[in-house]
Amino acid sequence: MEYSLLVEYYKRLEETSLKTEKTSIVSELLAGTAPRDIEVIAQLVMGRAFPLWSEEVVGIASNLMIKAISKADGVKEDEIIAKWKDCGDLGNVAEEFAKKKSQRLLFQKALPVSKVYSNLQRIASLEGRRSQEKKLLLIAELLSLASPVDARFIVRTVLSDLRVGVAEGIMRDAIAKAFFADVYWKATLFQKNGKGKKKRFEKMLSGMKGKTVIAEDKVMDALRSSDGKIIEGFERDNTIIVKDILEIKKTGSFFQKNLGAEYVFVDDADIGNKLKKRIVGAVEEAYEVANDYGIVARLALDAGEMGLSGLKMEVMRPIKVMLAKKVETVDEAFSVVGTPAALEYKYDGFRMQIHKKGGDVRIYTRRLENVTEQFPDVVSYVRDGISAKECIVEGETVGFDAKSGKYMAFQKISRRIRRKYDIKKMADEIPVVVNLFDISYLDGKMLLKMPFLQRRLTLCSIVREIPDKLVVAKQKITDDARLAEEFYAESLSVGNEGVMFKNIEAPYKPGSRVGYMIKLKPIMETLDLVIVGAEWGRGKRSGWLSSFVLACRDEETGSFLTMGKMGTGIKEKQDAGVSFDELTKVLSKHILREKKNAVDVAPFMVVEVAYEEIQKSQNYSSGYALRFPRLIKVREDRGADGADCLSRVEELFGRQRGR
Ligand code: ATP
Repeated sequence: MEYSLLVEYYKRLEETSLKTEKTSIVSELLAGTAPRDIEVIAQLVMGRAFPLWSEEVVGIASNLMIKAISKADGVKEDEIIAKWKDCGDLGNVAEEFAKKKSQRLLFQKALPVSKVYSNLQRIASLEGRRSQEKKLLLIAELLSLASPVDARFIVRTVLSDLRVGVAEGIMRDAIAKAFFADVYWKATLFQKNGKGKKKRFEKMLSGMKGKTVIAEDKVMDALRSSDGKIIEGFERDNTIIVKDILEIKKTGSFFQKNLGAEYVFVDDADIGNKLKKRIVGAVEEAYEVANDYGIVARLALDAGEMGLSGLKMEVMRPIKVMLAKKVETVDEAFSVVGTPAALEYKYDGFRMQIHKKGGDVRIYTRRLENVTEQFPDVVSYVRDGISAKECIVEGETVGFDAKSGKYMAFQKISRRIRRKYDIKKMADEIPVVVNLFDISYLDGKMLLKMPFLQRRLTLCSIVREIPDKLVVAKQKITDDARLAEEFYAESLSVGNEGVMFKNIEAPYKPGSRVGYMIKLKPIMETLDLVIVGAEWGRGKRSGWLSSFVLACRDEETGSFLTMGKMGTGIKEKQDAGVSFDELTKVLSKHILREKKNAVDVAPFMVVEVAYEEIQKSQNYSSGYALRFPRLIKVREDRGADGADCLSRVEELFGRQRGR
C-alpha cells in the first residue's frame, strides 16, 4: 500500500470524533489492505510502530526531529524552532516546509508503507556510537520521499503523537466489522421499513447488492411480505443461503466475510445481539491473548473465528495486566466482588509480570517494559523458587529491609527500575521481596479462564517460598466484614498501602478494570498549595500553560517551597471543572519570568490537590514531592497566605502508614 493512501484515512479519521464513524473508516481501511500489509497497517493506524508487547521503540525526541526536518528540507534549525513555537506541532511544521520545497521539485516518487515501516524498524534497532546520526538520516530520507501531507503524519508517527483517535475499542470493533458478517435481526431490518421509510429500506438492501446473505427462513418470509418489489430484486441480486437458526449459531465460519457470508439475518433480537457480541468477543479475547492487534487482524482475515480462538499465549510475549477498581469501604468491596472474597495485602511496590522458560527469566513492568537486567536478584529467586518449566506469574515487588523487617518507600525501589549501571550494588542497597499474587500461564496451558482461587492454588503448587525474597501474597478468604477490617488494619500497620479484594471465581481479564479485583486504601488528606510556575504545553496543549509547579508555604520566612508539578485533574475542554484555558488566562497575566518553555508566576492562586503519597525529594525546595498530584479545585476562598505550610506537609508525611 502506498503511504499516501494510508494518509487519506488518517485525514478522514482526524475529521470526525464519532466513534462509529472512526470504526467504519478503520474497518474500510483494513478490509482493503492486502494480507501482507495488514499487521503493519493495524499498528500504524493506532499510532504505533510496534505492538505493545514488543521491546522495539522508535524513541525519537523533538530535537532530533528538528535536525531531520532541517536536513530533508534544507532549512535552518532556528527557523524550524520558531515555526514550532508558533504552532506547537512539528508535524505541521514539516508539512509547511515540505510544501515550499516540493514547489521546486517536479517529480515525486511513490512512498510505500513498507518503506516507512522498514525505516522505523531500522531506527528502533540502532544503538551505540553514531546511532543518533544514523537515525536522523533514516528520518530525513523518509521526509524527502514524502509529499507534504505525508510528512506531517510521518513526523507524528515517529514522535509517537499521531492523534487520529484510534484506540483499542475502535480497533476491536473495526476488525469485527471488516472481516465478519454484519448481523441484522428483524427489528433492525424493519424499523427502517415503517411508514414513509421505504426509501431507506430500499437503500439499505441495495447497499448489500451482490453479497452473500445467510438468513433464517422466517426473516425471508417476512421480508417478502413487506415489500414484494424490493425484495424480489434483493433475492435476484444476492446469494441467499437459508439456514436453520441452530446451524447459524453453531458454525463460526459462516461469519467470515471472505469465506462465508457478509450479512446474517436472524429473527430474534436477542439472538442477533448475542451473535454480534460473540464476534466482538472473539476479537477481544484474541487480543487479550496476543496483545497485538496486528496478529489479531491477520488471523481474523485468514481464518475467522476458528483462527482467533486458536491463538495461544506465549512465554516472553507479555500480556496486559488486569486492573483494579477502587472502593471506599469494606462493604462496598464485598458487594462488588461477592462473598466470600479473597483479601490480600496491597503491597506498595511495583508490579512485575514474570515470564519463565526453563532457566530463562524475563521481567516486565505494568507498562510491559523489560526490566530484567535491573533485577538480577529477582531472576535468581525465580529460578530457585519456581518449579514450573514455563509460566507467567505476577507479583508486587517491594523494597524490604530484612534487618528491620520494614518495607521501604516506593520511591526507593523506583530508583532500581531505571538503573543502568552498578546494578549489583543497587540490588544490595535496596533488596526486594516479590509477593506473587497471580498466574496466567503454566506449562503450555493458558489459565486466563480458570477461576481465581484455582489459579492461586496452582501458583502455590509451583512456588517454593524463599523468606523475605520470593513469597506468595498474604491472603485471607472471608465473608465477614469485621475480619476484613482487621485484615485491612493489619496490612496498614505493617507498612502496606491497603488491601485488595478479589472475586474468587473470576477469570483473569487482561487490560480490563472489570471489578474482579478491588483496591481499598485510606483516603489521603488533600493539600492546599500555591501555583508558582508552569510550562507552556505542547501538541494538544500548545498555547496553554500546563504542568503547574506547586508550592507550600514556609511559615517562618513566608516564602514558597516547591513540591512537584501537576498536570492532571485539569480539563482540556471547557465543560465541568477547571480547564487549562481558564488557568492560562488567569495565570499568564502574572508571569514573572520566562525561560524556554518554563515560566515563573506570582504566587496568588491556591489549589486543592489530591495525591497518592508524599515522598522525600531533593528535586524540590521543600524537600518533598507529591506522587501523582491531581487538581481537585481552585480555592477561590483563599489567598497564598492561607496555603498549607511545610509543617503540615511534614506531619502528613510522618502519618503515612507508620513510616
Ligand atoms: P491503577 O492500577 O488503578 O491504574 P495503580 O497502578 O496506581 O493504578 P493501584 O491503584 O496502586 O494501581 O492498585 C492496583 C495495584 O496494586 C496493582 O496494579 C498492583 O501493582 C498492586 N498490588 C499490590 N498488592 C497486590 C495484590 N496482592 N494483588 C494485586 N495487586 C496488588
